[in-house]
Amino acid sequence: MEPIQKSLTKWMKENKNFQENYVRIRKEVLNDPEIREFISLHPDLSKQSINRGLIKLYEYKTQSKQCQQCSSYPDCKNMIPGYSPVLHVENGEIHLSYEKCHSRIMYEKEQAQQKLVQSVHVPKEILQASIKDIHDDGDRNNAVLEVFQFIREASTELPKKGLYFYGPFGVGKTYFLGAVANELKKMNISSMLIYMPEFVREIKGSFKNDTTNEKIDYFKKADVLMLDDIGAEMQSAWFRDEILGSILQYRMMEQLPVFFTSNYSLEQLEGLLATTRDGVESVKAGRIIERIKQVSKPVEIFGENRRR
Ligand code: ADP
Ligand code: MG
Repeated sequence: MEPIQKSLTKWMKENKNFQENYVRIRKEVLNDPEIREFISLHPDLSKQSINRGLIKLYEYKTQSKQCQQCSSYPDCKNMIPGYSPVLHVENGEIHLSYEKCHSRIMYEKEQAQQKLVQSVHVPKEILQASIKDIHDDGDRNNAVLEVFQFIREASTELPKKGLYFYGPFGVGKTYFLGAVANELKKMNISSMLIYMPEFVREIKGSFKNDTTNEKIDYFKKADVLMLDDIGAEMQSAWFRDEILGSILQYRMMEQLPVFFTSNYSLEQLEGLLATTRDGVESVKAGRIIERIKQVSKPVEIFGENRRR
């Protein structure tokens, strides 16, 4: 009989522990200021319902409420990171649900915003460009005014035309693109910024696989497309007509704005685009220039070379 006696004693001991624990936890839970407040706000809750809901009240008590105990979303200590417990009463019973906490909402918003400026081979300082620095730019008045007008219009409706910034090397043309992209981001408008010579290399690299069309589609449909340094790329008739031409054609038809930067005026660019390994094709170059004019407005940028 010994084993039974032993297990019975053990069970009674554990059960006693359990009972004691239960009483202690119940007291702790019901003394918690927030839980007391919750119960006082629901005078209709019966004692039985409270007992049945004790495990939920306990869970509520152990979790961090609306980031009280967490400094940021990645440090969230809750069972479901980024979610905060909420108590409510339904049909006389206590229910516990979880809602996104503000740290998580902020975090998700930041993640989504980061995606709004897509870029390919763009220096970091350009991605951090700010409109304030442009504002203080005395000798670039005309370009500054155009940028501000674009942004003002974009706050109600995205303008049909972007800007074609041209001027000498180092005056801040690419910086202007970064500043515009960052300003648009605040309005939840996405920009796709591409460094043209790299774009040409990349498209030629994916020439033989299926990703080309996917990439081109992306450039066609971006809210705002920014082509940095057009005219600096190696000239290829195929790229000019099949890639650049079709992207611009699409955006022209859909009235989607494009920004450009170039060391060349449109007249100079026309000459450059005409001359490829396939010879001189003025009509085809003229067609591209015509589309550039449809999707952007030329603005000359003057000033000293800012590169050190
Ligand atoms: P561009 O594209 O005309 O050749 P960049 O935009 O690359 O010239 O500018 C040259 C350098 O000057 C970069 O390092 C850029 O970060 C800096 N820069 C340009 N404009 C500004 C500005 N308004 N405020 C601060 N830095 C600027
Ligand atoms: Mg540049």
